[in-house]
Amino acid sequence: MAEAAGVLVNVVDQTEACGFITPSIVDRGDVVIGISTAGSSPVLARSIREQIERLLPARVGDLAAFAREFREAVKAKFPFSQRRKFWEKFFQGPIAQSVLDGRLEDAHQEMLVHVNQEGFESRQGRVYIVGTGPGDPDLLTLRAMHIMQQADVVLYDRLIGPEILSYVRRDAELVFAGKQRNNHHLSQDQIQEKMAEQALLGKTVVRLKGGDPFVFGRGGEELDFLTARGVSVEVVPGITAALGCATAAHVPLTHRNHSQAVTFVTAYGKGGSDIDWDGLVRLPHTLVFYMGVSRAALISNNLVSAGLDACTPVAIIENGSLPEQRVVRGELHCLERLVRDGNVKGPAIIIVGDVARFGRDSELGDMVGKEEMAASSKRRQIA
Ligand code: SAH
Repeated sequence: MAEAAGVLVNVVDQTEACGFITPSIVDRGDVVIGISTAGSSPVLARSIREQIERLLPARVGDLAAFAREFREAVKAKFPFSQRRKFWEKFFQGPIAQSVLDGRLEDAHQEMLVHVNQEGFESRQGRVYIVGTGPGDPDLLTLRAMHIMQQADVVLYDRLIGPEILSYVRRDAELVFAGKQRNNHHLSQDQIQEKMAEQALLGKTVVRLKGGDPFVFGRGGEELDFLTARGVSVEVVPGITAALGCATAAHVPLTHRNHSQAVTFVTAYGKGGSDIDWDGLVRLPHTLVFYMGVSRAALISNNLVSAGLDACTPVAIIENGSLPEQRVVRGELHCLERLVRDGNVKGPAIIIVGDVARFGRDSELGDMVGKEEMAASSKRRQIA
C-alpha cells in the first residue's frame, strides 16, 4: 500500500524490501555522523558508533558552529589559497582547543584578534593537570584521553604505566618526572618551572598524575604555583586509588550495615606524629591508608594504642585495577607481617575496618588471611 502511495518504507530485518535504511547516528549538533552497514548488521553499526562517540570530543558540535560563525570573516581576510591552510591550523590549534574546553568567550576574543589584526601574536599555552586513575587505561576519563591527544609536552610520574602513555599524541615530548623516595629525577620545583616555562612558550602541557591529582598528589601545589605565574590551568579529575582499588577488589568502602563513612589517610608524613590517631579511631568507619606499606607497623601500633580493636579486619590491595592486582588480608595486629609475608612490593593501599573482610581474594591473600584469622580467633577463645 505504501509503495502504491509512493511512500518510502523500511522493513525491519528485510533489506531487500526496504525503500530506505536508517543509519546509526552520532549527533553532536552541527556535526552528525551516520554509520551504515547497508543493513547487514545493525549491531556492528552500533558498536562502531560507540567507538566514534568515545573518540569525538563532546563539544565538537560547538566547534563546527564556531567555525561557521567566522567563515565569512575568514573568507574576507584570507585569499582562497590561504584559507584551507588557515582552517587546518585552526582546528589543530589553541583557539579550537578553547572551544572544546568550553571557554567560548576566550575563543571568541582570540579569534576576533586573529581575523582583525595583522601580525597576530601567538598566545599562551595551557597546563592540564590530569588524573589518570589507578592504572587500568579503561578507567581513564574521556576528558583525560582527549587532552592527552592534544599534548605538546607531557610530564609523567612513576606510577603512570606504558599503556596509559600510549594514549599520548605521538609526537609529544615525554618528560619523566618520576618520584621515588630518594630518587627524584626532577625536583618538585623543577617540574613546576618546566610546566610554566613550556606553557608560556605557547605549548599545551599535560601533567599526568596517578589517581586523582588532588588526592595526595601535590596537584594543589602545582595549581597554586602555575596560577601565581599567570599560567592558565585546567585540572581533570581521576579515579583515586582508594576507590579504584577497593571497587576492583569488591571491597565496599561504605556499607549500610558496617561503615557509614570513609577517611583517606597518608601514612607518609613525619613519622606518624602529624597524624591525629585518636581522631581517626573515634568514628566507627573505614580507613584507607595511602603510601602505608613501608609504615605498616607504625599504622597498626598507633591505631591499636588509640583504642581500635587489634582484631579489626585489614586488606592490602596491591596494584589495584591492574592485571597484577593482589589482595592480602588479615587483622590489624599483624599488618606488618602481612606486608612482609605477602611480599607486597608494588603500590598498595591498606584498608582498615569491618568492610575489609569483604571481596575477592587472591590465593595468597586467602592463605595469609586464613592463617591469621584462625590464630586470632584462637586468641579470642583463650581470652
Ligand atoms: N593521587 C593518587 C595517589 C598518589 S600517592 C591517587 O589519587 O590515587 C601514591 C599512593 O597511591 C601509593 O603509595 C599507593 O598507596 C596508592 N596507589 C596508587 N595507585 C595504586 C594502585 N594501582 N594500587 C594500589 N595503590 C595505589
